[in-house]
Amino acid sequence: MTANEQTSVSRVADREKLPLLLDKARQFAGEYIDSLEERPVFPGEKSLRAMHALVESLPENPSDPFLILDQLQEIGAPAVVTQTGGRYFGFVNGGILPVGLAARWMADVWDQNTAHYVMSPINSRLEEVCERWIVSLLGFPEETAAGFVSGTTIANFSGLCAGRNELLRRRGWDVARKGLYGAPKIRVLASDDAHAAVHKSISMLGLGSENVELVPVDDEGRMRADQMPKLDEAALVITQAGNVNSGAIDPVGPLCEHAHASGSWVHVDGAFGLWARVLPSMRKTCDGIEMADSWSLDAHKTLNVPYDSGIILCRRREALMSAFKASASYFKWSEHRDSMNFRPSMSARARVIELWAVLKTLGRQGVRRLIEQLCENARSFARLLSEQGFQIHNDVVFNQVLTSCADDALTRATLQNIQSSGECWCGGSTWHGRAVIRISVCDWATTPKQIERSVRAFVKARAIAAR
Ligand SMILES: *Cc1c(COP(=O)(O)O)cnc(C)c1O
Repeated sequence: MTANEQTSVSRVADREKLPLLLDKARQFAGEYIDSLEERPVFPGEKSLRAMHALVESLPENPSDPFLILDQLQEIGAPAVVTQTGGRYFGFVNGGILPVGLAARWMADVWDQNTAHYVMSPINSRLEEVCERWIVSLLGFPEETAAGFVSGTTIANFSGLCAGRNELLRRRGWDVARKGLYGAPKIRVLASDDAHAAVHKSISMLGLGSENVELVPVDDEGRMRADQMPKLDEAALVITQAGNVNSGAIDPVGPLCEHAHASGSWVHVDGAFGLWARVLPSMRKTCDGIEMADSWSLDAHKTLNVPYDSGIILCRRREALMSAFKASASYFKWSEHRDSMNFRPSMSARARVIELWAVLKTLGRQGVRRLIEQLCENARSFARLLSEQGFQIHNDVVFNQVLTSCADDALTRATLQNIQSSGECWCGGSTWHGRAVIRISVCDWATTPKQIERSVRAFVKARAIAAR
C-alpha cells in the first residue's frame, strides 16, 4: 500500500460502513440512557482523572472510526455530567424530550446548512411554521418576526442590535453604514439584577458596560417601575422575564406603557421565564409583556429542546432584518425565508427541526403541562426542604428555589457535599448578602421520587457538614 492509500479519506469514511457506525453510536446511547438512574450526577474523581488519556499530540495518521467511538464510550461517557436524568438542578439548563433528540439525529444525518432557502427548503419552511406557532403560543402581536439562533445570549444580542439600530434610524442615523462614531447617544437601562448575558451584549454592541443605568429591584429581584429614570427616544430598556436566581418576572406591562409614551425600545430577556406566558396561573404577572418591542427566549432550557436553540422575537420585522443585512454576488435570495436575514450567523445547522418536532408533539396543552410540571416540582422541592429545616429565600413563582442552612458556612459546606454526593447537583449563589443553594427545576424527567431522593441528599449533606 502506498502512503497515500494508507492515509486516504476513503479508509476512514466508508459509506457502506456508515449504518454500522451509527448502530454503534446508538448502542452506546442506549447504554447511557439505561444508566441514568444509577449514574452519579457529577462524575467522580476517577472518571475525571481518566480524561488525561485524551491529552496527546494530534495523531499523524488516520484511525479506525469504530475505535474512536469506543474511546468516547470508555473515557467520555463516565465523565459526562448527567443533566438529563431528572436529578440535575444546576444553573438553568433543561432536559431533552425524546422526540427532540430523535429529530435531531435525523437532522444531523441530513446535515443541512441553513443560510439560504436554496440550501434547505425544509429548514426554511419549518422556521416559518415555528415562528407562527411561537407567536401564537406566547400571544404576541401577529406581525412579530422570529430568528432562530444558538441561545439567549445571541438572541439578546440580536434584539438589542435591532433596538439600537432602530432608535438611531429614527434620529436620522444609519448605524450599519456610519458606525457608532459620532452617532447620537443611546441610553441603556437594565435591571440591577440583569443576567450577565445582557451585559455581554451591551459590551459587544459598543454601548459600553459602564454606561448602563441600573434600575433598582425589589426583594424578589424584579425591576421597580417606580424607580425607572425618565425615559426618552434614546432609551433602550432591558427587562427580564425570569430572574436568574428567584425566577421572578419584571412588571413589563407597566414599564412598556411608560417607555412607549417616550419613544423608547423595550427588550425582554425571557430566556427561561418567558415560558410563564403559557400558564393561566401566571396570566396576571405576564400581562403586558406582549407590548414590548423584542423578546429573547430559549427553547433549550424550559422547553427541553436539545441545546443550540434560542429564539429572537421582534415586533418590527424590518428592524430585525435590517440589523443582519449582508450581500455578496454569489448569494441566492428567494421569495421564501432566507434564514441568515433573521440572525447574525450565515451557516448554521437546522436547529428548528427539533423545535418543530417538540412543539408538534406537545401541542399547546402539552407545552402548558410541561411548564406546570416544572413549577409544581419546584414548589414541592421547596416544601420538603422547608419541612427539613432549610430556609427558603424566594417566592417560588416559577421553577427556581433559593434555599440555605442556618448560616453561610454551613450552607457552603452542605452545597459542596451535595455536589460530590452524585445524588443530585445544584449550584450556589448569593441572595441579599446570604450564601444560598440555587435549585432550578427544568427537566421533564424529574419525578416526585427523585425530588424526595434529592431532599434526602440535602439532609445527609448538611449532617456531614455539621459534624
Ligand atoms: C440562560 C440565560 C441567558 C443566556 O442564555 P444562553 O442560552 O445560555 O445563551 C440569558 N438570560 C437569562 C435570564 C438566562 O437564564
